[in-house]
Amino acid sequence: MSVDPNGQLTIAIAAGKGGTGKTLVATSLAIAIDAHYPGCAQIIDCDVEEPNAHLLMQPELTAQAPVEVLVPEVDLDTCTRCGACARACQFSAIAVIRQAVLTFHGLCAGCGACAYVCPVDAITEVTRRVGTVKSGSAGEIDFVTGTLNVGDQRATPVTKAVKDRIRDDLITILDAPPGTACPMQETVEGSDYCILVTEPTPFGLSNLQDAVETCRRIGVPCGVIINRDGSGNDGVERYCAQEGIEVLLRVPQDRRIAEAYSRGETLVATMPQWRDELATVYYHITDMVAAQATGEGVS
Ligand code: SF4
Ligand code: SF4
Repeated sequence: MSVDPNGQLTIAIAAGKGGTGKTLVATSLAIAIDAHYPGCAQIIDCDVEEPNAHLLMQPELTAQAPVEVLVPEVDLDTCTRCGACARACQFSAIAVIRQAVLTFHGLCAGCGACAYVCPVDAITEVTRRVGTVKSGSAGEIDFVTGTLNVGDQRATPVTKAVKDRIRDDLITILDAPPGTACPMQETVEGSDYCILVTEPTPFGLSNLQDAVETCRRIGVPCGVIINRDGSGNDGVERYCAQEGIEVLLRVPQDRRIAEAYSRGETLVATMPQWRDELATVYYHITDMVAAQATGEGVS
């Protein structure tokens, strides 16, 4: 291995769609790293709309903090209904309809543009809780998870809040939300590497292509883990070969893995040999990131 084992790589685990085994890989990788470097691993569940890493890790959560954003509050006595705030809002979170000014806090990004443009200072920014960050540990693994409040549609503030808990002294695994929309991009951005988990099916390939394009656009190197290998066709393998994307690991279609997952068990808890397989993936990623840092390039 070419980097300090106490080094501070941040590796995002993402997937173009849900149900590919992304969280299974993320949690198992964190456990594999912890087995090789006890006390050096951290996992952060960034899927704040549907967090489930805790189901596999069974952490002891000892702290929690609210996530708050600033949202507009309109003084209707001062407001002239000029409509400037609605025209300034890029998120359709405030509307002026005849004599009413409607605010949709679930859509609000807290950018402050409406208050800035209001000519009569009728808008005050007030704090509003949109989610919660909880933290603790699963054995020696540092564990962080976030939850977006039901009814809120903007996950980004909560994603940012959980990412603020990345510790520079730990190897961090980020379990990204599925898909390639803003919450996934917010999670992956700034990571040293992104593992894309996919299935060898036409749907898996289509979603993988979107995820690869997203990683390339935001400048994060990526490789692929094929889950349920042997269950579909070779489209994913051919695409990866054509695009020069490394297949880091193939997890076979195996009834024992599926049954263990349904019981809430990780890959390494079920079949300990995967601990070394995943540790090897981690070592390989550290080598690639180190090579990139020294200008030798990565695949
Ligand atoms: S910009 Fe200010 S005055 Fe104009 S409609 Fe909005 S809140 Fe009212
Ligand atoms: S703070 Fe920004 S997103 Fe929220 S209502 Fe005002 S302009 Fe729209």
